[in-house]
Amino acid sequence: MKFLYKVILVLGILIALSCFVQFVVFNKFFIANTNSLLLSTNEKASKNVSMQLVENFNKIQNFVKSVAANEEIRENQELLNKFNEIIPEVDVVTILNSRGDILRMSGNVHSPSVSNLAYRDYFHQAIHGKTYISNVFTGNSGNKIVVISVPIVKDGSIDGVVVGTVKLQGTSLASMFDNKEFGRSGYISILDSHGYVVYNPNKELIGKKSVVFDKLQEKSGSKIMKDYSGKEQFVGFSKVSNLNWYVTVITPTADIMTSRNIVVYETFLGSVIAGILIILLGIYTIKRYSKPLDKLIFSFNALKDGKYKKIDSHNYGEEFQEMVIVYNNTIERLEKEHNDLEEAADIDSLTGAYNRRAFNNFLSVLKQEISNCSLESAGVLLLDIDHFKELNDTSGHLAGDNVLKKLAQIMKSIAGDRSVFRFGGDEFAVVIRNVSDERLLSIAEAIRLKCEKALDGYTVSIGAAKYPKDTYSIDKLIDFADKALYISKKSRNKVTIFVK
Ligand code: GH3
Ligand code: MG
Repeated sequence: MKFLYKVILVLGILIALSCFVQFVVFNKFFIANTNSLLLSTNEKASKNVSMQLVENFNKIQNFVKSVAANEEIRENQELLNKFNEIIPEVDVVTILNSRGDILRMSGNVHSPSVSNLAYRDYFHQAIHGKTYISNVFTGNSGNKIVVISVPIVKDGSIDGVVVGTVKLQGTSLASMFDNKEFGRSGYISILDSHGYVVYNPNKELIGKKSVVFDKLQEKSGSKIMKDYSGKEQFVGFSKVSNLNWYVTVITPTADIMTSRNIVVYETFLGSVIAGILIILLGIYTIKRYSKPLDKLIFSFNALKDGKYKKIDSHNYGEEFQEMVIVYNNTIERLEKEHNDLEEAADIDSLTGAYNRRAFNNFLSVLKQEISNCSLESAGVLLLDIDHFKELNDTSGHLAGDNVLKKLAQIMKSIAGDRSVFRFGGDEFAVVIRNVSDERLLSIAEAIRLKCEKALDGYTVSIGAAKYPKDTYSIDKLIDFADKALYISKKSRNKVTIFVK
């Protein structure tokens, strides 16, 4: 059985090992592959968004340029308003003269707090002939904005500036990205050339400095970086040409980690359950097989001590019932043969009467019964053939043997098969339980008379004693019967009852 328990232990260890290997492989390859897959996906996404952004700003730029080129639109408030409506990304269009004074405004206009914008960098850049896209800054209305400024060229000289304002916290630019989804929790964040957030789905972050900006050096790429709260995230980034902004596409690593943990826990739990099931199944199987084997070993040991015990086959599984039946049949045969042998060992082979050994055993049983107070009474007859030696001498041993056989038959027929014992030579004993004095005497007389008639002219002498009338001791009972026999031998062919 120890071997089977070892097998179960090895199986358990193998399961644990396979789970460990599974875990290592999963961590090493699956997680590493997922990481690089997500990083490259995010990088690609950031390139796409970057291109869209360039397109969008080209559109805005072209719009502002077309306002700068069209005097009719610039001069006519109503026309300007209508033209502005075509392109909702531009929240406000402002027409400035060459000194920076605000001449006209369209779109989402708040009552301006200033009337001259000559101090603004975007005015300077445009009045010196450049088309300029600003970084993020806080406008007069308090909004985070980006502006595009274009010079108005009239008759070969710069006559003013048209400024297109894009409010970053409003809906215009954000609408470009708000509906874009990158996985379950991925998102876009756009940073200006100084690292300030131009777009983020969390509007509160717009205008704030990005924590990842310092790590973005290349034109495009992907890295695992920490966000504002110190949590790791997959960041794919791409520089926006002309603007020098960065588009970043970000996916928190927590998502992947959660999936990883689910798989790890699932694997762990699965292996624990599988391990427990295998061990329980193993123990059950071992018990199922070891129980009948243990029982067999126990029964064989009992057999060694001479106990022929059968096994109840109902207590065991189907596959053991045949084994138990074979065992029980063998036990039955062995027991019978044993009893036969024992019986044979107790019988005198010449006369068929019980031998001296059986007589001694029987006396032991009687002694036991006396000590248990279960023996009411018992009578003993001791018998010896008269002049038997003479018979042997005159007629031969064979004739003597025949007389011995006949005598045993006579005794058995009168006293019963189980009551007759051959003591040795021509001496016999009869032991009868629960017998009255009269009956004992009549049995003795009946034997004597039958011998007188049927024993080829030979006679027997008999001595009788009774328990408990004569003695309480079995040994003394035999002794007294012998004494009575001795008396009978004096005259021969006689029955003597012991008298104290
Ligand atoms: P008693 O009347 O005083 O008993 O005289 P006895 O001749 O019978 O004397 P005893 O009982 O001493 O003699 C027993 C004889 O029985 C002696 C022996 O030769 C004979 N004998 C003992 N066993 C056997 C046997 O198995 N077969 C035969 N044929 N004779 C036996
Ligand atoms: Mg004799």
